[in-house]
Amino acid sequence: MNEVCVRVAVRIRPLQPREVLHQHRVCVRAVPNTSLVMIGKDKTFTFDHVFGYESTHDELYEACVHPLVDSLFEGFNATVFAYGQTGSGKTYTVGGGLTNEDQGIVGRLAQDLFQLLGQKRADGVRVDNTVLVSYMELYREELTDLLELHTNRKDLHIREDDRGNTVVVGVRETPISSAGELLSVLEAGNALRHTGATRMNDHSSRSHAILTLQLTQRCHADRGPVPAAARFSKLHLVDLAGLERVDKTGNSGVRLKESIHINSGLMALGNVIRALSDPRRSHRGNGINNNINSGGAHVPYRQTKITRLLRDSLGGTAHTLMVACVSPSHHSMAETLGVLQFAHRVR
Ligand code: ADP
Ligand code: MG
Repeated sequence: MNEVCVRVAVRIRPLQPREVLHQHRVCVRAVPNTSLVMIGKDKTFTFDHVFGYESTHDELYEACVHPLVDSLFEGFNATVFAYGQTGSGKTYTVGGGLTNEDQGIVGRLAQDLFQLLGQKRADGVRVDNTVLVSYMELYREELTDLLELHTNRKDLHIREDDRGNTVVVGVRETPISSAGELLSVLEAGNALRHTGATRMNDHSSRSHAILTLQLTQRCHADRGPVPAAARFSKLHLVDLAGLERVDKTGNSGVRLKESIHINSGLMALGNVIRALSDPRRSHRGNGINNNINSGGAHVPYRQTKITRLLRDSLGGTAHTLMVACVSPSHHSMAETLGVLQFAHRVR
């Protein structure tokens, strides 16, 4: 997996009861026993993974996300994106029910992470591990700290330290020591996010939510009391703003501008990921500082905050997973085709 830095999965959600009621037809299918998606009668796309409407969170997690957690422990950075039209299942896939059976990626990730940490302890490996969580929202190029009510968004600045690591100056980084703790921190953050939803027009689907877990591992040398070099790595889980159809009726004025904004931001992100997955680029790194983004093709990071924010966790030795979420309904066929084309180009 170290060879391929960008992987793309597609998840097709089931028709919702309301859609069944209104006789929506299914126009997107996973072709059984392949990694092909078929849209319409005969158009197909190949991806790294395809999850049909009956797929479970568990299948997706085990196939796509668990390997990233393993590499996190090895010192590699990673980013997981959920991409797609509003209503296609991004939040369901990433967040799901935080505290119930129906946990999406976040809940499983939290359990996996702390289980692995516990295992290391049980194996007698002398490590001091710390996990820090931060949770931010990016709306119209403005960053908000979802874990800190009182931080003014103007106080958050994206910087690069002298080792090339991206840091957000002013963001709250909360130490956590269990899966449960992580989930309650997130719940608090989500509550803050929802406050915005009543003020603005479906704010949450028009902004990116970025959850970041930073792992610091300090292994002790065999006998000495002095810890050996620390290993830092981080994993971002990003619930992207919904891809918008700009020609939809009723999408005018401020909303239209906003849609264009969102789409161009997503395009910029796509361009960065595509540049990174370009085979002409060379990927080198030592696995400890994963910020070697040098290479052949020009990578247009600077264009948007989302790419600046994720800079040290995209490309280089970092692993990127894009989960493209799609609705199967024939009503969204045009949008779904756009999402599949985007996701396919990114590979
Ligand atoms: P988005 O975040 O992309 O706007 P949501 O995650 O909110 O979309 O999903 C829209 C609706 O579809 C929600 O009611 C969600 O529960 C449901 N849904 C999405 N994906 C699935 C799935 N794979 N299985 C069952 N229900 C799903
Ligand atoms: Mg959502």
